[in-house]
Amino acid sequence: MPSENTTEQQLLSKDPPDIESLLLLNPRTKPFANSRPSVQTLQEKKHWKRNDEHSCATGCTKDLSRNFLDVKHTTLSERGALREAARCLKCADAPCQKSCPTSIDIKSFITSISNKNYYGAAKAILSDNPLGLTCGMVCPTSDLCVGGCNLHASEEGAINIGGLQQFAVDIFKSMHIPAIRDPSSEGVPLNEKYSSKIALIGCGPASISCATFLGRLGYSDLTIFEKQDFLGGLSSSEIPQYRLPFDTVNFEIELMKDLGVKIIPNKPLTTENDGLTIKNLLNEHGFKAVFLGIGLPNPNIDPIFKDLTKAEGFYTSKNFLPLIAKSSKAGMCACKSALPVMSGNVIVLGAGDTAMDCATSAIRCGATKVFVCFRKGFNQMRAVPEEVDVAMEERCEFLPFCSPKQVFVKNGKITSMEFVKTEQTESGDWIEDEDQIIRLKCNYVISAFGSTLNEHPVVQALAPIQLDKYNYPVVDLTTMTTSEKGVFCGGDIAKVASTTVECVNDGKTAAWHIHRYIQGVETIPLEPQLPKFYTPIDKVDVSVEICGIKFPNPFGLASAPPVTSGPMIRRSFESGWGFVVTKTYCLDKDIITNVSPRIVRGTTSGFNYGPGQGSFLNIELISEKNTEYWLRCITELKRDFPDRIVIASIMCGYNEADWTELAKVTESSGADALELNLSCPHGMGEKGMGLACGQRADLVLNICKWVRAAVKIPFFAKMTPNITNIIDIARAAKEGKKMN
Ligand SMILES: Cc1cc2nc3c(=O)[nH]c(=O)nc-3n(C[C@H](O)[C@H](O)[C@H](O)COP(=O)(O)OP(=O)(O)OC[C@H]3O[C@@H](n4cnc5c(N)ncnc54)[C@H](O)[C@@H]3O)c2cc1C
Ligand code: SF4
Repeated sequence: MPSENTTEQQLLSKDPPDIESLLLLNPRTKPFANSRPSVQTLQEKKHWKRNDEHSCATGCTKDLSRNFLDVKHTTLSERGALREAARCLKCADAPCQKSCPTSIDIKSFITSISNKNYYGAAKAILSDNPLGLTCGMVCPTSDLCVGGCNLHASEEGAINIGGLQQFAVDIFKSMHIPAIRDPSSEGVPLNEKYSSKIALIGCGPASISCATFLGRLGYSDLTIFEKQDFLGGLSSSEIPQYRLPFDTVNFEIELMKDLGVKIIPNKPLTTENDGLTIKNLLNEHGFKAVFLGIGLPNPNIDPIFKDLTKAEGFYTSKNFLPLIAKSSKAGMCACKSALPVMSGNVIVLGAGDTAMDCATSAIRCGATKVFVCFRKGFNQMRAVPEEVDVAMEERCEFLPFCSPKQVFVKNGKITSMEFVKTEQTESGDWIEDEDQIIRLKCNYVISAFGSTLNEHPVVQALAPIQLDKYNYPVVDLTTMTTSEKGVFCGGDIAKVASTTVECVNDGKTAAWHIHRYIQGVETIPLEPQLPKFYTPIDKVDVSVEICGIKFPNPFGLASAPPVTSGPMIRRSFESGWGFVVTKTYCLDKDIITNVSPRIVRGTTSGFNYGPGQGSFLNIELISEKNTEYWLRCITELKRDFPDRIVIASIMCGYNEADWTELAKVTESSGADALELNLSCPHGMGEKGMGLACGQRADLVLNICKWVRAAVKIPFFAKMTPNITNIIDIARAAKEGKKMN
């Protein structure tokens, strides 16, 4: 009872003040609308805001100086990856895969992620694309797989395929498992041609891919010659750390080295200083084949910049980005240099992905403002939206319709730059309007006008390959062959690929045609049969032995809708399942008609449709297909998959002759074992079959006795849980087996 002098706070029927004030935060019925003056909400907004102010009155850039942390919007945590994977529709004729230059089986790796089989996901990715982690991070997916995703027009949008790819391969990377050749090729002798010397020039994505596939095919004398003292091509030297860390590139190079590929750095293709040339590689050094993957190492420079120097504040992307890479990518090389320090305004020229990387890198060097100036409009930008978005988020200013005219230098430093406005005529041509001049104050200019190959000694070293009028090798783009026998070419220099993944695919295509060239086109088919990605995990023996039967692996399909027909079982074996228990069948005299639909939606699915569903219910009866159908299927399947286990599920009424007949014909069809269906609750009980037999120990005992007498193969009595004491039934089944 409350005492006489109980105050308001001490009321037994009220919580203490701290609890009450907490509860005040929860929704409650209020007598009036909430009201605060706007001046107050505006002031307070900044305090509560987690995202950046959408405008910055001073035109500031974000303080990102020396910040090289991941900026990709696509990177996913495990929780995010599982949720994203659950959204994928696993489309039958998946357009995402068709839009992937390396044809990765995207829905299959997404399914593996859903099942938390991250190794399986990584294996599927790396099988088709040995640079699967790099590509998960840098592919312009909106233009490739994501651009084709059937969910594009849905409210949640297309699947974040790049993020899922990165997630799966990143987990595999953290497992520190080496690559090996296909374990099934172990012990298979290779002819001496597999020891032929093969040279790959340049250690970028194209060569890494080509060498990896050649290594998987069994070639044992592969050497990559690289002019730099670091490896990885533009993935290392130009794509910034915050989009592609060096340890990712290194991981993929290590997987290639696991297959025995040698790399010789500081060894360029050039006619200078005793360098390598196509001629001396083939004629003096004894290489049977050469793959040329040197990319486009030189910058395109507008003549108006020809006398400008770095000291004055002028860079090209080709001498700016490598400086950033070398100073921010730990472990890339011993060539460590300091991050360039920039202050004031930076003008970046160009509208491609390289320009975006220059702009965001300049911010990290300390630039106060970055202007990205380009000749055409936003609608004609070459950069993919995901890259432009990052640059905009980082407060870069974009100036379209600006054509560079002149750079002004005072006291040895750039002070400003002049542009004229461009316009597009109705016929689509671009013209410059000399009357509209813009002058921007700036301290640095970075030109990102694309790349080329114009180093004389390198071009000369390509002889005798036929070159086009721009000095690029003439390449057959279906086989990646050049005019010179045994010389192949791919990646940026072949002039079709312009993204990492396309270069990887060039290398992959070339690998098969190098293989054909070396082994002889008459022995190797034109259609590629490139080996997949393997690790020692694939050598683990997961076979199990039960009742004297050896199962190649312990994964099998139970007697249910997934094994409703012979073709479904065939497909499951083709996909690697170790065993199946067939759909239960009976003698033709007991044949049933089935229900439709056979699978219905479960009740735990919430508002999800499609693959996001929580559960399905199987309401199928036994098979409506006749005995002859199943016996023939079993015979065919055992003939075509002798190492897979077929357990035939059979059902009869309580009748010795029926069980004897069905067990015997099934044994002679080739089944490895029988499952006696004494359990099915779906409409068979009324006919005295299924659970009607399984619920009585005396019937189970006799059925097992009859079957034991009829066949030699093992059998399993499948019991029903709809019984008071299952132990009695189990004992009866065991007794039945013993009595013979
Ligand atoms: C700044 C920038 C950003 C990019 N961003 C993306 C992106 O986000 N996504 C994407 O998919 N693609 C991107 N790309 C394109 C992608 O990087 C290239 O398409 C790809 O790297 C080309 O691969 P490659 O093997 O043909 O050549 P490279 O990567 O250029 O590799 C060629 C290798 O050959 C070496 N080499 C050159 N000359 C010689 C010689 N004479 N002798 C021996 N070795 C030599 C080079 O040092 C280099 O290691 C970007 C490119 C740049 C420049
Ligand atoms: S939903 Fe998108 S990612 Fe999934 S299979 Fe279909 S197209 Fe591919």
